[in-house]
Amino acid sequence: MKHNDILDRIHVILVGVTHPGNIGATARAMKTMGLSHLRLVQPKHFPNAEATARAAGADDILAKATVYDTFEESLQDCHLIMGTSARRRSISWPTLTPKQSVAKALSSAGKVAIVFGREQSGLTNKELDLCHFLIQISSNPTFSSLNLASAVQIVAYEMRCGVENHDDDLKMGRAYASAESMAQFYQHLEDTLIHIGFLDPNNPRQLKRHLYRFFNRIQLLKPEVNIFRGIFTAIQEHHKRKNN
Ligand code: SAH
Repeated sequence: MKHNDILDRIHVILVGVTHPGNIGATARAMKTMGLSHLRLVQPKHFPNAEATARAAGADDILAKATVYDTFEESLQDCHLIMGTSARRRSISWPTLTPKQSVAKALSSAGKVAIVFGREQSGLTNKELDLCHFLIQISSNPTFSSLNLASAVQIVAYEMRCGVENHDDDLKMGRAYASAESMAQFYQHLEDTLIHIGFLDPNNPRQLKRHLYRFFNRIQLLKPEVNIFRGIFTAIQEHHKRKNN
């Protein structure tokens, strides 16, 4: 799938926006990152000259923005809904960084909603209940609330970067190892380490955790898994020969 296809599935929803300048700045933030679908739930002023001025050439996005009376209506055709919030909430919604939210968007089918809240009060808990995930932009805990359009810019930027990386992977034919093949890989690694006396099967916990963390960070490709498995086999055979 080309990245334009994925970016084209993303719908930015602004709930209860009061300053028209923020609508314009949101359109600009979106267009610079290749997003084009804007939905507005009960905007205080729209259409509006200040919004158009702040869009600075992204007024095509404003022209085709759709306006809704209720949040529920704005979500109806969306399959994945991610709300954004500056505040840590008392009830904990599954929370993602903007980067992590890209993977969710990539692996989903259909329309993806990214929802932003009111300048003064954000999204209500009732609105967050309709979201599958919450996206939180890391910020100063004693001054955590970004300007609305700045928050849109950051999330849209991460979406674009993530999608571009994904495209590069596809173009280069990079195929990551599946969870099943990684499970076999870890088993083979463990057998080998036990075989050569490096891993104590009665006390494997810490070492195994470090190894998992290391390989998860690297994210092995399929051919790399095959190379490592070849190395494990060679080590075991070498060890057997040495001990015979
Ligand atoms: N006082 C409000 C702040 C609203 S800021 C609150 O505490 O929620 C307006 C909107 O910008 C938020 O609803 C959210 O959509 C977005 N936003 C601002 N700062 C953010 C952050 N650090 N992480 C994620 N979204 C943020």
